[in-house]
Amino acid sequence: MTTRNYVIDEMISAKAIAARVEALAKEISNHYAGTDKLVVVGLLRGSFIFIADLVRELDLPVEVDFLEVSSYGNSTESSREVRILKDLRGEIEGRDVLVVEDIVDTGYTLKHVLEILATRHPKRIEVCALLDKPSRRETSVKARWIGFEIPDKFVVGYGVDYAQRNRNLDHIGAVRFTD
Ligand code: 5GP
Ligand code: MG
Ligand code: MG
Repeated sequence: MTTRNYVIDEMISAKAIAARVEALAKEISNHYAGTDKLVVVGLLRGSFIFIADLVRELDLPVEVDFLEVSSYGNSTESSREVRILKDLRGEIEGRDVLVVEDIVDTGYTLKHVLEILATRHPKRIEVCALLDKPSRRETSVKARWIGFEIPDKFVVGYGVDYAQRNRNLDHIGAVRFTD
């Protein structure tokens, strides 16, 4: 893959992310108070830093599992289906599942992930997404908890990549091409 020249403009600081993660964790902990069967499912790879920070702020017994699906990329298939690249290790039947996603854009990834997980008969599935681009939505899926609504810009950092780079930035930034 050829990468263009770009700079990264800070959009959400590390401090703002930390404060928001703490607030989300409080809401989620209240919501699931008394639940002892919660499994938090991170969608690889973009959510790995978010889920690591989020679960450490949860005041709940949780299990953590991961799912990786293929992105449909620039595929022209109208279905925009996803395939499982790495499945969950554990069973979710009868359990509360919290899916943790980095960004909800068109919503197709989340839609298909929720359909796949629903076939396994969990008790209930909810979604927590760090970032939401509502202006891009093409499906009706909704995340119950959202970190930040952002405009239609290509972002990186805090787990999210551009051509596999910049996942290790401590903040969220917008990519601005300079060529
Ligand atoms: P959707 O299926 O909702 O259109 O997009 C799902 C995935 O596309 C997101 O979970 C994320 O992995 C990727 N994506 C969407 N917007 C961005 C972005 O601004 N930057 C990066 N790096 N990935 C994005
Ligand atoms: Mg993602
Ligand atoms: Mg990516």
